[in-house]
Amino acid sequence: MTHERNHLPISDHFSLDAFEDPTTGLVQLCPDLVQALEEAHAKLGRGFRVTSGYRSARHNADVAGSPTSHHLVGGAADLVPLSGSLEELAVACMLVPELFTIKETTHVHVHLRRLMHHPT
Ligand SMILES: [Zn+2]
Repeated sequence: MTHERNHLPISDHFSLDAFEDPTTGLVQLCPDLVQALEEAHAKLGRGFRVTSGYRSARHNADVAGSPTSHHLVGGAADLVPLSGSLEELAVACMLVPELFTIKETTHVHVHLRRLMHHPT
């Protein structure tokens, strides 16, 4: 049994804590992003891990994120494959129309093309 904060399943393959800010434990998350990630999971046919979801302003600065990053409003996620290549994961994300996908050197960044709340 666990009582850990945010240890809460929110869809078939994701738990809320995967998206929380690592420095504060706080989380904002657009439901549409979770839905889009489930679609990417279906396209890929296997799992992947969220390495960064919601970021507080301070944590975003610590990781040299863009000041207008979608991570600041819970509309972005950085992903790494559990197996297979980064390229395969990026292609699966690109097949989901709601996602804007960028293949970085160490991860795949995705964010919602349409956000409910835009960063200021
Ligand atoms: Zn990112």
